[in-house]
Amino acid sequence: MATAERAAGARAPEQFARLRQLLAEAVDLGKVAGLLAWDQRTHMPPAGAPARAEQLGTVARLAHERFVSDEIGELLEELRDYESSLERESYEASLIRTVRYDYEKERRVPAALRAEITRAGALGQSVWEKARAESDFAAFLPYLERNVELQREYVACFDPADEDYDVLLDDYEPGTKTAEVRAVFERLKEDLVPLIEAIGDAEQLDDSFLRGSFPIAGQRAFEHEVLIAFGFDEESWRIDETVHPFAWNASLADIRLTTRHREEDLHSVFATMHEFGHGLYERGIDAALERTPLARGVSLGLHESQSRMWENLVGRSLAFWTRFFPRLRETFPEQLGGVALEDFYRGVNSVEPSLIRIEADELTYNLHIILRFELEQEMLSGSLALADLPDAWDARMKAYLGIDVPDVADGCLQDTHWAGGAIGYFPTYSLGNVISVQIWERARADLPDVEEQIARGDFAPLREWLREHVHRTGRMFLPGETLERVVGGPIDPGPYVAYLRQKLGAVYGL
Ligand code: ZN
Repeated sequence: MATAERAAGARAPEQFARLRQLLAEAVDLGKVAGLLAWDQRTHMPPAGAPARAEQLGTVARLAHERFVSDEIGELLEELRDYESSLERESYEASLIRTVRYDYEKERRVPAALRAEITRAGALGQSVWEKARAESDFAAFLPYLERNVELQREYVACFDPADEDYDVLLDDYEPGTKTAEVRAVFERLKEDLVPLIEAIGDAEQLDDSFLRGSFPIAGQRAFEHEVLIAFGFDEESWRIDETVHPFAWNASLADIRLTTRHREEDLHSVFATMHEFGHGLYERGIDAALERTPLARGVSLGLHESQSRMWENLVGRSLAFWTRFFPRLRETFPEQLGGVALEDFYRGVNSVEPSLIRIEADELTYNLHIILRFELEQEMLSGSLALADLPDAWDARMKAYLGIDVPDVADGCLQDTHWAGGAIGYFPTYSLGNVISVQIWERARADLPDVEEQIARGDFAPLREWLREHVHRTGRMFLPGETLERVVGGPIDPGPYVAYLRQKLGAVYGL
């Protein structure tokens, strides 16, 4: 150790402290920008929007400049020997390694291109809102073309060894390759399309009790009770209403969830459990990582695995509803008084191919993602002319889900991602589904009583297990390594497919 320290240079601890300080300031500024955005989506009166856009732009630019500074680059160079003298798993080595990964990516992209991507995305977003409302793909097309062109320029900054799409995917799922995702999705398609067809041929479930009248005050009270049981506490968490539910955190001890209520269904109960899963991930990160770029979830896929776990593996399980259905029935006696637990459980797990991704059930959801993943690669490579996107979309909806798309607004114009310039984001949703079950199987092996615990409303063992095995390390390792450390292997769709077959086979009597 003493020799290693000498070799690394006596100044290394000082240089590391300076790096930490600069990073802490960049992280602080990033969180301030995030807080401005959170406020915009939850509390700001609409007329505040123009000034808020300027404020956000200024603070985000300061955060970015601080991060890509020459001084950080020099420190990363000077710390190379120090880094190799450290244990790879140490906090210090992880910080230097992760920051170098981010820094090298940031520095490859000219500031002018980044600014143009942001600007074109904002413009695309506003045009898309109107185009979708008017089902007018032609009006949106030039903006989509611009976004795709800019993504190609972005890819060109990196000179990828294998596939261009790898570059875009890396922003959301660092280190993961398109070929790996393709292999996972081919397997899903092969196994899930026949399962969807078999369910379509089976006797359909009566889930009509899930639509009707659920007064919002009752929904809020019920969700509060669930959240408290899950581990939400008012010292560190809050929940607000927004148009699109999301989770964000100002620090590891300041977790903000949002949800949205509709009187006619119980959608928000599941949306709230989903966002809790995102919040719990951030809450479980080791406090020693606070104010560093390591203090967040490692990737969108891993993050989504945590939200899906609480929404689906917990929130749509018979164990969960054994504990909570009596409370829900007491809350909405007119709507649910005559419904049996088992029928309710089957109802919340019913499968029906539909047009809209965000309203899709647990099974068909993946086909919505696979379709987008395939189209994105074709759009990026140019093998699909963007003018032909609606036809290509509709053909795949028919092939994978067996449904016709009556209107482009409910077809390729339904999502905001491409309008905002985000290509490569969609696959992370289904990766999250796949990973959620791999992790769940590990948790179940360590906690053989987890279902009994859930049926008693005791979520502490699962929560603690997730903190210890998944959440604690934040971004210390790449997503693939993080998963490997938890489940002992790479991403594998097998457990997810088996879970869907088993659960839905029982629900539908297949
Ligand atoms: Zn999510």
